[in-house]
Formats: sequence, structure tokens, C-alpha cells
Amino acid sequence: MKNLDLLLEKVAKYNINALPLIRKAYDFAYVKHKNQTRESGEPYINHPLAVAMILASLQADANTICAGLLHDTIEDTDTSKEEIACEFNEDIAILVEGVTNVKNLSLFAKDIQNNANLRKVLLSMSKDVRIIIIKLADRVHNMRTLEYKKNLDKQQKKSRETIKIYAPLAKQLGLYDIGVELEDKSFFYLDSEEYNQILAMQKGLLESFEEDKSKIIEDLYTILIDNNLFCSIAFKTLGLYETYKELMNSSDIKNIHDLLEFVLIMDDIDSCYLSLKYIHKLYKPYTKFYQDYIAQPKPNRYQSLHTTVFGPNENLIQMQIRTAFMEKITKYGITAFWHEDLENGSKLMQKAFDEQYPFYQSILNANKSAKSNSDFVKILEDDVLSEKVPVYNNEGKLIEVSKNITAIDYAYFISPFLANHMVGVIVNGSFVDFSYEIKPYDKIRIISDINSAGPNCEWLSVAKTMLAKNSIKEYLKRKGQSLTRSPW
Ligand code: MN
Repeated sequence: MKNLDLLLEKVAKYNINALPLIRKAYDFAYVKHKNQTRESGEPYINHPLAVAMILASLQADANTICAGLLHDTIEDTDTSKEEIACEFNEDIAILVEGVTNVKNLSLFAKDIQNNANLRKVLLSMSKDVRIIIIKLADRVHNMRTLEYKKNLDKQQKKSRETIKIYAPLAKQLGLYDIGVELEDKSFFYLDSEEYNQILAMQKGLLESFEEDKSKIIEDLYTILIDNNLFCSIAFKTLGLYETYKELMNSSDIKNIHDLLEFVLIMDDIDSCYLSLKYIHKLYKPYTKFYQDYIAQPKPNRYQSLHTTVFGPNENLIQMQIRTAFMEKITKYGITAFWHEDLENGSKLMQKAFDEQYPFYQSILNANKSAKSNSDFVKILEDDVLSEKVPVYNNEGKLIEVSKNITAIDYAYFISPFLANHMVGVIVNGSFVDFSYEIKPYDKIRIISDINSAGPNCEWLSVAKTMLAKNSIKEYLKRKGQSLTRSPW
């Protein structure tokens, strides 16, 4: 029972009232999973317990923790949704059902089933975003224990799906640490040689940086305190997969501008901006990489000032300056609402998700334009959760779009209606071709006219994203139909 005690202890710190219900959920899951073992040979209950632990680290509400404990009962035991609703409550039953894979598709191949389940769980976010949080916690523990999976082919497939779907999803929800862990675990299984190489490189750099690091922290404290600015400073590094991706664009690990990161937590927003002045007095800024995410938050609500400076011994160093509240958002993303209001956190989370997280709209669009489940997963991988670059929309708002897309793709991403009537594109003040490839920090304006000729086959060959392609095809089909249907 020692493991359960750890969970109870963790939850007691922020929600002591939840303990009886959690204990009951554990007992229920324990009995249901009795005699089941994981591939590692350990009792099955350890898995839901670990998932609940991850959720407790996010300070999840009582129902979410219980659902974490019960998450495999409908799928892997004789439990029904009704039973959970009667024994616990409707809310927990909905959460558990939400993460349960559909199994009655046994006629079809595994891949087809998998795509159907992925679509189901992603669309469930519209009802309750907590379902996807539980799914992410489940995936984290499955990846932590992936070494025990005997089927190596399955190991690869899980890793691929994790790095393509679940890790970007976690990052879009602001769950940065979970996203990085999922990426790095998958990276290890997908390309262990490359993984070990990056690991060794990072280790080497960190060792040679050790002395400078202490000196930088000391110098920062000194100059800030001398000017009545109080802060706490922490040091961190990029994830291994993130480093790997950045190394594709630069030959030397020393050229990565945000590998060595110092996080400065300040008292208030004014102090954040003020500290910048003194940091730039200490170290010359590499202006190209200055970012004000306080004035222009990232779509996942992340806020911070970023400045890369030329540190000692030719090291590039990134300073991230933010308040304690912003740090909370950095660590917990959308789940920070649980910290702000335990009682109503879930409702606030859902409201914010529906209204503020643009990628959710993209998932709904993907669902609308997808012809099949595999189509849906492909749009998700290629468009919605692919690597992103920041650009400015017409109003100067910083938004994120997929890397390497064209102006046509951009227009369809913003609004299919607008795109269908597009007559011109202005990027950074100049007219460009529709085939123009969007670059980071471009300012883009789409000009439309209701009397435009509309998309043609050439657009189809230019567009890169499935969303744009499907919308253009749809338009052409409609247009073709209206021509052939002419009564004369
Ligand atoms: Mn599970």
C-alpha cells in the first residue's frame, strides 16, 4: 500500500477533502485489475496509480484523479460506464469513457482502429479537455515503461505517434515539461544513436559551462539587487529532441541561441522590463532573438521576456524573465486553472480552451474536412500539430502557423471563406505570389474580393496543407457541379 500513500500524501497538500473518494477509486481499480499484470511483470494497478500520480503533480481535481485510477477499467475489465456512474459519479464516468478505446472494430486492422480512437479522444476535448490531460498522463507512463514492450514494432509505432501527436499536443496545451519528456522518450526509441550523440554533446557543453554558470548567476543577482530588483534565478536546458531539431539548422551546438537558459522570476511586470536594462548592461544582447511574449503571449498563454546575450567564453545564453504567475502558466499550461480555483478550475479550463486556444479550432476544421479517420490523423500530423513558426496577422497579432507553408495555405488556415475569395497577398508591405513561402515573423495580409474568380487547379498544386487542398477540391467540385447542373 506504500504507493497509494504517496498519492494520498501528494493530493493532501492541496485538496485534503478528496482523499476518501480517491481511496475508494483505488480500491475499486485494485479489485478490478486483480490478477492482471503489465508486460514488465508488475501488478497492473501500478499503472493507473502512476497515471494518478502524474495528474496529482498537476494538482488535478478529485474527479480527474479518480478517473486516472479508473482509466483502464472499462477497456480492460468487466466494468461498465453505468457502474462507475453509480459507484462514483457521472463526471468520473464520462472521463473514463472518454479515454476508453473503441474495441468493437475488431474486423479492421490495428492501424484503422488506432486512427478511429485517436479521432475520438481528440474530439472529446470539445466536451471535456480533462480527457486529453488524462490521456497525456497515461501516455507519459506508457513511454516511461516502454522498454518492457516486447513487440519492437509496436514500440516504434507508439514512439512515432507520441512524437507526432501527443508531444505537440502537450506543448499546445502549455504542458511543456510533459511535451519535452514525451519527445525525448520517443526520440530515444526512434533513433537511439542520434539520441546518445546529442546527449553526449549537451553533457560536454554543460560541463564546460559549469564555472561560467555560477559566475553568471552571481553577477545577475548582484546587479539586480544593487538596483532593488529582487528575483529568483534557475537554470535549465533545451530538451534533447529540441536540440536535435535546432542542430539541423546550425552546425555547432554553441550556435543554438536558447540551449542554455536562465529563468528569472521577478516580483511584477515592471521589474521584468527593468531587469532587461541591467542584463543588457552586463552582457551585449543578440538583438535578433529578443522576444516580448509579455506584450504578445504565445497562443498557449505562455508569457515571458526572452533575450539572448553574448555570455562569457563565446557562449550564447538565453534569459527568460517573467513573474511568478507567468511561471505557473509555463509549468502547468492550461491546467494552471486548477491552481487558481480548485472548485471551478475545470469549468474555467474548458471555457478558456474553447475560446482562447486556436489549435482547438484547427482540430475541428480538420474533423470537418477529413474524409476518413486516417485522413484526419494525417491533417493533424501535417497541419495542426506540425512544427510551428510565429507570424503576425493583419492586426499585428502574433500567431503560429505550420512551417514552410505557402500564402494559400495561410489564407485557408485563417478562414476558408476568405481564402476562396482571395485576390492578393501582402507580406511585409509588398505584394507576393500566392505561392510565396511564409517565413518566421512575416506580417501577412490577405486581400479578398467577393467577385474573385476563386481557386483553380493551380492553387491545388501550390497548396501544401491537407486543409487547403481539401477546401480547394471541395470548392472546385461545387463549382463543377453548379456548371453541369445548369437547366439549359
Ligand atoms: Mn493506460
